[in-house]
Formats: sequence, C-alpha cells, structure tokens
Amino acid sequence: MKILRLILGDQLNSNHSWFKNVDEEVIYVMAEMRQETDNVKHHIQKVVGFFLAMRNFSESLKKKGHRVEYFKISDGKNPQNLQEIIQQLIQKHDLEKFEYQLPDEYRLDQQLKSISQQLSIPTEAYDSEHFYTSRDELGQFFKAKKQLLMESFYRMMRKKHNIMMVGDQPEGGKWNFDQSNRKKWDGEPKIPKELNFKKDVTELITEIEKAEVTTFGNIDPKNFNWPTTRKECQELLSFFCEKLVKHFGDYQDALHTEEKYLFHSRLSFAMNSKLLSPKEVIDTVLDHYYAHKGEINISQVEGFVRQILGWREYMRGVYWKKMPNYSKLNHLENHNPLPKFFWDGNTKMNCLKKAIGQSLDDAYAHHIQRLMVIGNFALLTQTNPDEVDAWYLGVYIDALEWVEITNTRGMSQYADGGLVATKPYVSSANYINKMGNYCKNCYYSHSKKIGKKACPLNALYWNFLHEKRPFFEENPRMGMMLRLLDKKDPEELNALSERAEKIIKNPDAF
Ligand code: FAD
Repeated sequence: MKILRLILGDQLNSNHSWFKNVDEEVIYVMAEMRQETDNVKHHIQKVVGFFLAMRNFSESLKKKGHRVEYFKISDGKNPQNLQEIIQQLIQKHDLEKFEYQLPDEYRLDQQLKSISQQLSIPTEAYDSEHFYTSRDELGQFFKAKKQLLMESFYRMMRKKHNIMMVGDQPEGGKWNFDQSNRKKWDGEPKIPKELNFKKDVTELITEIEKAEVTTFGNIDPKNFNWPTTRKECQELLSFFCEKLVKHFGDYQDALHTEEKYLFHSRLSFAMNSKLLSPKEVIDTVLDHYYAHKGEINISQVEGFVRQILGWREYMRGVYWKKMPNYSKLNHLENHNPLPKFFWDGNTKMNCLKKAIGQSLDDAYAHHIQRLMVIGNFALLTQTNPDEVDAWYLGVYIDALEWVEITNTRGMSQYADGGLVATKPYVSSANYINKMGNYCKNCYYSHSKKIGKKACPLNALYWNFLHEKRPFFEENPRMGMMLRLLDKKDPEELNALSERAEKIIKNPDAF
C-alpha cells in the first residue's frame, strides 16, 4: 500500500518505529510553512533552529534510504499550508493512505483531524513515541481533583518508572531536595564555557528573509549556537553530564549578569524538537551519576530529574486536560498592554534589561529569568496574558505551545487561578537582589520603595497585592504576604499605588 507519512517540525525522533524499515511504498513529507512561521512573530533563531534541524533530519532519513518530499520555505511551489501539501502529494504519487504522528499542539491536532475527515483515503494517527506519558495520563491520575499537585504526579512517575527508587522509597530518603537548590552564585564554582556549535547559517537566513517571514531578535549568522542534529544534541547531553550536573541543583535559581546559562543544560530545544527523548536524557544523566556517586550529590541530580520527569510531563498533561479553554483564561482580569521594552530590552531596570536582552540575543533565558524576572514584571504590571503568551511563544527557541502556555499563563501569570502554581509567583526587588547581582549596578535602588530611583518592582509589588487581594484572600500560601500588606501604613500604601499606576503607564519615568 502506498502511504504518505507526515513528520512535523517538532517530530524529529529518529528512533520512532516508523523508521525501523525502509519501505519503497512509503513517502515521508516534511514542510517549512508560513502556516507555522506566522502564527505568532518568532525569534529569528527559533525559525533557523527548527528549519535547520528539519533539513538535517530529512537528509539523515534520505541517507538511510527513505523517500522524503521536503518543502523549503523559499520554494516557489510550496503551498505553505498542510492541507494543500497533503492533497498535492496524494495526487502526485497516487497514494492510498495518510498517516501522521499525534501532534503536541491543539491547533495542529484539530487541523489534522479536519484534513483527515476531508480525505477520500484512510488515515491513521500514531503516537510520537517521545514522552513518558500519554496525552491523557495526567487527567486519569487526577480524575476529579480540583488542584493538580505536581508533587504527587512526580512521585507517581518516580515509582511507575522506577527512577531513583530503593524499593518503594525515594533514593536518598527524600522526594525533593528543593530547599538546598537555592544558592546565589558569587563567582565560584567556576562555570565552564558553554559548548558552542558555531554554525554558519547565512544562507538559511537569506532564504527566510526572501520568503518575507517576519521575525524579531538577534542572530550572529556565522555563529549559530544551538544543536540541530542528533549527534550535536548528544554532545550537549554529555557536556552537561561531565561539566554541569554536579552543580545544577545548587544554582538552579541563581541570577547573574555575566552568566547566561550558569549550570543549566540548554537541552530544551533538543528535547522539544524530539531529537533527544526525555528517557535517554534521564537515563544518561543517571548512568553518569551512579558511575560518579562520590563526586555528585543526589540533590543536583534529583533537581534535574524532577524538571523533566516531573514538570515537563506534568505541563503536557495539564495542556491536554485543559485545552482549548486554557488559552483564554485570565483569572486575575489583567488587561494592560505588554511594555514596549519587551521587544528591545531598552529599560533602566537592570534585571529586565539583562534577562530580556539575553532572550533577544540568544532566544534563551533560564527558568528563574523567565519566571521571577520577566514574568514577575508582566504579572505585577497586570499585563494581558494573551500578550504575555504571544511574546513567550515567539521569543524562546524551545517555545512550543504545550509547554509554553502552561508555564506562562499558568505558572507565571496565575491566569488559570492556581491550577498549576499554588500561589502567584510575584516578588519585590528584595528577591532579585537576594538571588543575584542584577541590582548591583542598576540605575534604581532595590531598597527604596518610594521617591526618585526607587526600584519600580517595590511599588508594583505592594500595589499588586493590594489590588488583586480578593483573588487570593483564601489562599493559605498567600497568608504571610497579606499579613505584611495589612501592616502597611494606609498613606504609604496609597503612595505606592499611585506610583505603581504611573509605572504601569510609563515604566522608566522615574
Ligand atoms: P534546565 O534548567 O537545564 O532544565 C532541564 C530541562 O527540564 C529543560 O530542558 C526542560 O525540558 C525541563 N524543564 C525545566 N523546567 C521546566 C518547566 N517548568 N516546564 C517544563 N519543562 C521544564 N520550557 C520549554 O521547554 N518551552 C517553553 O516555551 C517554556 N516556557 C516557559 C515560560 C515561562 C514563563 C517559564 C517560567 C518557564 C518556561 N519553560 C519553558 C520552562 C523552563 O524555563 C525551560 O524549559 C528551561 O529554561 C530551558 O532551559 P534548559 O534546557 O537549560 O533547562
């Protein structure tokens, strides 16, 4: 039977059972499409990263003898959307069946279902054979529960997959070493220079420009620094094991002006494109840990495993349990526009200048920059979550809706009313100052609340708690913050609120 098989840009799993045998009757299709580049405005590095990884993947399939039809963005005959591409190929090759792997994005899932219904030939959808969990496993696990506690999901996953377990107990006697994962980085231990992939992508950028795809952000055309083949991804994983994991947990939450990556792995693009599977990442890191047990503390490794086995799978499960409604949630009724400096990094607030500047330069920021610096400001300024989501989905090389929206709208913006995060992640300048050196050379003073050069975060923080209080009055995790709010002198609170209002209109006016 002559079959057409679709491989989406984030389905670059060379270990998928589809590829076990070479079959002359099977044609694979891969396509760079305006349908995908234009759904939000993307960072140029994200577009380059995905297209390059797709092209490499297609070449590797061809080398193995598979038949591949590949549509480049610049190809004049590229219809630029899935429906036409599939129909065109079915006619061209007289195909008898259409097959696809289940997409991870709701929009594409709907589109492929609709295309399948319209086709006159049979269709079949396959698992992508990437995740530990199926789409609805988290939903089954929590069934009717209102709160979807990540910690209970994570423990179930540890037991089910027998990861870091001694019998039915967690290795090291604890499930969670979070308390020891909160160190500030003060120059020691030394951070190894990141693994650089130094790729010349000049031609691809020209193609993208010629196709008139609108992008934003910066790129060094001769020095593209992301892994886009399976081999490069494996090298990055080895680099993480050998050089970084031993300090991963300790400095997971640290912030530093001169260190973009600290001890973070940079593996999210490798995994989200499916060049690497989460299982091989966890297995490789654990093999390394067990072989070097005297040198690596369990807290470093458990912290890493939790991010992938816990948070990553959890976010996928929440996405499929709650979409499509999730993308419309705005529990805190935030409606302000996204500040302009999100697009150019041009602000006197050093923490935001650095974190946003880095996002624009490298299409990367680590978790705490995304959550406690950038997301914190967006939430404190009561920004519309639609705008926040569009920015996050565009800017990061690893941003795919299933993991972006749950983190942004859920964890960071509390727009789901506390489904993912048990409290809003907000902070004043105090936290930023505690976790790094951003405040050191800042125009603003982190310890001042009012008056010239007082850090805007301080007024915004108290104003946020005051204005949004009715939304989390009953939340026990907010008790301490609200008690401190109650102790504030009404006049001071008034002045803070007035100042916050002005900052929201014009963030750098003071
Ligand atoms: P490391 O710190 O080395 O962590 C290892 C891996 O754990 C990551 O590669 C990632 O796969 C996984 N991981 C860690 N935290 C999370 C998390 N909260 N949710 C899911 N997986 C996690 N991650 C994305 O992959 N795509 C996104 O679009 C995305 N958007 C985010 C938006 C916000 C507002 C926040 C707060 C977090 C977001 N994250 C996202 C999660 C996390 O910030 C990134 O996965 C991480 O920064 C990627 O860098 P790394 O590979 O060096 O991660």
